[in-house]
Amino acid sequence: MSDIVRTCWWLKEAMAHPEFAGEPAPALDRDTSADVVIIGGGYTGLWTAWHLVQARPGVKVVILEQDECGFGPSGRNGGFINGFYDHAVTLVDLFGRDGALAVIDAGARTIREMAAWMDDHGVDAWFRQDGYIGVASSPAQAGGWEEPIETARSLGIEDHYRVLSKADMDGFCASPVFEGGHLVADGGTVQPARLARGLRRVCMEAGIRIHEHTPVSGLRPGTRVEAVTPGGVVRAGQAVLGINAWAGTWKGFGRRIVPRASYMAITAPAPDRLAEINWTTGVSIYDYRSALRYLRTTPDGRIALGVGGERGSWTGKIGPHFDGDERGTQHAIDAIHRFFPGFRDVPIEGRWGGPIDVASTHTPFAGTLPGSNVHYALGYTGNGVGPAHLFGRIMAARALGIEDEATRLPFVDMEPKRFPPQPFRSVGAALVNAATVRRDDAIDATGSVDRLTDIIAKLPRRMGYHLGP
Ligand SMILES: Cc1cc2nc3c(=O)[nH]c(=O)nc-3n(C[C@H](O)[C@H](O)[C@H](O)COP(=O)(O)OP(=O)(O)OC[C@H]3O[C@@H](n4cnc5c(N)ncnc54)[C@H](O)[C@@H]3O)c2cc1C
Repeated sequence: MSDIVRTCWWLKEAMAHPEFAGEPAPALDRDTSADVVIIGGGYTGLWTAWHLVQARPGVKVVILEQDECGFGPSGRNGGFINGFYDHAVTLVDLFGRDGALAVIDAGARTIREMAAWMDDHGVDAWFRQDGYIGVASSPAQAGGWEEPIETARSLGIEDHYRVLSKADMDGFCASPVFEGGHLVADGGTVQPARLARGLRRVCMEAGIRIHEHTPVSGLRPGTRVEAVTPGGVVRAGQAVLGINAWAGTWKGFGRRIVPRASYMAITAPAPDRLAEINWTTGVSIYDYRSALRYLRTTPDGRIALGVGGERGSWTGKIGPHFDGDERGTQHAIDAIHRFFPGFRDVPIEGRWGGPIDVASTHTPFAGTLPGSNVHYALGYTGNGVGPAHLFGRIMAARALGIEDEATRLPFVDMEPKRFPPQPFRSVGAALVNAATVRRDDAIDATGSVDRLTDIIAKLPRRMGYHLGP
């Protein structure tokens, strides 16, 4: 059994059920051909394959995954399934009013479609749509809802947001450190590994060929692009890259994303303790720190909490520390105990991590490498569970030469502002990230921060990136 299945509670839970463990998908051991070859078996790759067979029945699709499908972030994430309501401020800045509204609408639609898809295909991924809350987890964060709600008002979509007083918040989830917040009713949660592995099953049943334990070392360009693996070459008319943070070491992508770890921890079931703090709906929560905390419950009464903005990578490579890290996962446990002192004696039953593909725009982007038949979608920046379904549709349309509403969305063919070249990228990211976390911690503890830390943490914004405070 892979180590990540032992440490990541979502994967362990899903893989204990035959319908999610599924049949093995053997490694590629000979040359082969297809209409479309997809690199990466996470949500992006799997949804691309699914949309391809829907749009053109009979199309030959091969997915090549270096590990097993869903063992990357798609099976390990927080399971928040959101569209783009909370990105309104950035979206208006990037795409203007109409572009922002088109993206927000597409994000909301994609969640409805995913819900229907889970029903239609009998994928019990614990989907529930009880909304999500942005909460101030210290007095200094109070008012964190003002900018998103002001923007929503200017877009005429303020009905989707509700400001919560401290008393309202206590009704959803009481914590001695929570102040007010805002609720967005459209968000939901899933068991992320069940979704990824359920999608794998449905793709296999639809005749999509999957080869696991098949790393792709490179693509040879041509009218038939060649995906090179240790066991053979796949020749295909079109290729799709759905490799998330791993793209950082691929030519052409190094300056478009920066990998950053996020770490999670999950408690043992404690439904009575959840009832004591009124956290009995499936509402999920994040706070207004720049390196945010995100938390949700499970049907059997656990709390799962994740921390963002943790370790990076000096080389762009995704090393083993992304899978788990003592310090990073301890930050998640500390946050559970700070938010909910009543959980201090509830055992922790899993701690793990994964890489986030941070884009300078804080939004995903998609496109086609110039003059080629290679398409890509990445840059989810920690918000990919819902959006990957939409980006899979975009990738499928691109591979089939279809232009439609989805391919006309403004993040298609967007050129995100590039990150600096190495070594400035990794050094800069490490410095800025450390300052951001220091700034969050200082503000939470004392309400203020020293000037130098503040300046460094705010550098990305000053440089025109949509990142950080
Ligand atoms: C701890 C954590 C918490 C998160 N929480 C949330 C959340 O609550 N809500 C949310 O919306 N998003 C969240 N995210 C982000 C979300 O998980 C991702 O945006 C989403 O899973 C992206 O899907 P993907 O298919 O693009 O990438 P991945 O799931 O990373 O899939 C990419 C796949 O490509 C494979 N691959 C890479 N290189 C190669 C190669 N050379 N050859 C073959 N295969 C290759 C990898 O093994 C991997 O399986 C979180 C992420 C992490 C790490």
